[in-house]
Amino acid sequence: MKAQDGMYIDGAWRPARSQETIAVVNPADEQVIGRVPAGDAQDVDSAVRAARAALPGWAATPPAERGARLAALRDVLVARKDEIAETVTAELGAPLKFSEAVHAGAPIAVAGSYAELAATYAFEEKVGNSTVYLEPVGVVGAITPWNYPLHQIVAKAAPALAAGCTVVLKPAEDTPLVAQLFAEAVHEAGVPAGVFNLVTGLGPVAGQALAEHPGVDLVSFTGSTAVGRRIGASAGAAVKRVALELGGKSANVILPSADLAKAVNVGVANVMSNSGQTCSAWTRMLVHRDRYDEAVELAAAAAAKYGDRIGPVVNDGQRRRVRGYIEKGVAEGARLVAGGPDAPRAPGYYVRPTVFADVTEDMTIAQEEIFGPVLTILRYEDEEDALRIANGTVYGLAGAVWAGDEAEAVAFARRMETGQVDINGGRFNPLAPFGGYKQSGVGRELGTHGLAEYLQTKSLQF
Ligand code: NAP
Ligand code: MG
Repeated sequence: MKAQDGMYIDGAWRPARSQETIAVVNPADEQVIGRVPAGDAQDVDSAVRAARAALPGWAATPPAERGARLAALRDVLVARKDEIAETVTAELGAPLKFSEAVHAGAPIAVAGSYAELAATYAFEEKVGNSTVYLEPVGVVGAITPWNYPLHQIVAKAAPALAAGCTVVLKPAEDTPLVAQLFAEAVHEAGVPAGVFNLVTGLGPVAGQALAEHPGVDLVSFTGSTAVGRRIGASAGAAVKRVALELGGKSANVILPSADLAKAVNVGVANVMSNSGQTCSAWTRMLVHRDRYDEAVELAAAAAAKYGDRIGPVVNDGQRRRVRGYIEKGVAEGARLVAGGPDAPRAPGYYVRPTVFADVTEDMTIAQEEIFGPVLTILRYEDEEDALRIANGTVYGLAGAVWAGDEAEAVAFARRMETGQVDINGGRFNPLAPFGGYKQSGVGRELGTHGLAEYLQTKSLQF
């Protein structure tokens, strides 16, 4: 794999201060496929200075011209989509077809949506005797995880650039190559120097320096709850804007009137895709007691069919963590109906597609985010019971409801404490706001709501 040995700062690839590097490993065969520089606080400082210097010019660039740069960026991502898919497959381990459709496809859709929004959004509005201007917040520090590595970068960088903000990105250490590719694409798209900057490095070093840098006006973070809490606390102390996209433990609620086979099969696919490393995955399936046994059988069969088609998880630590959860589920008395803690093959960080039945709400596997290919199936007595179980976690990121009648599903979804619900298998919408209720986060990404995160208002009275 191609790897840059510098940082993309102020429109060029520049050497890092230190000689330290990060090895990038292919999780499918455990081979080192490249090395990127491990940036430190000084690299972050250079990048933030470049972003600050570029801010006045970019903020004053007409939104239609910012939109034109984003359209050019989308076109570069389209032209390089095969390379993107291959890169994500190499550093994340996702099967190539999934990388092509989702890891390359979603960022193209999102970049395209912001090209259009930048050109059409009302950055000025009249309210009575006032004119309200929606102005860029300033310099954005973006910190992203590895599970949808390019999507999560684009979901922050595209709206930030559309709004007129400038950006410093610190991507996940496990997936820096697609971040470098993105920086090349920004350059090719003719985005002015300093508007977008990339510092690769470790979270507690480069990430923390970025989050705490006084020259950063807004921190947008996606990742674990533990790190999100710290970033939120330091942003609060500095009176800085912050957006946090954290974990989830979402419910897939199958109401008695639903098409059971469809609901179960789509539900299993949702959890197993990307090897279960999806924050919005529906990892708790809720089934009425009268249809429970049938659902368990269907889910076990669906998971078994996955077998070899599933990719590895991202690294050895993640594999150990996921297997630990599977062992804990067994120890707590859940019934294993597919998969298990043993490794299906080696080399590679593989975990077997796993399904647990007879899961009760109090079990660890029903409450904590596992972030691996592990589905839990819970039994409910009636609709009120289903709602109580669905809402019974600290999270509230996503969910699904299935019913024979759409209105019945909608009525249930409206009572769920969560930010996104798919009705009878609804499709991904790149314009729909994405983000969490409760401890799943603060703020929204995508569409106009995602753009609004990067804007602040100024009102002039006449
Ligand atoms: P993480 O540590 O929170 O990583 C997210 C990003 O934050 C990475 O770029 C990371 O850098 C950086 N980071 C780490 N420590 C930091 C600090 N002290 N200050 C600033 N930035 C910091 O998450 P992870 O280790 O990749 O995954 C752990 C768990 O988080 C997963 O098992 C999963 O449960 C959850 N997770 C959730 C999502 C989501 O979409 N909601 C995504 C990924 C992970 P490094 O890459 O160098 O660590
Ligand atoms: Mg980490």
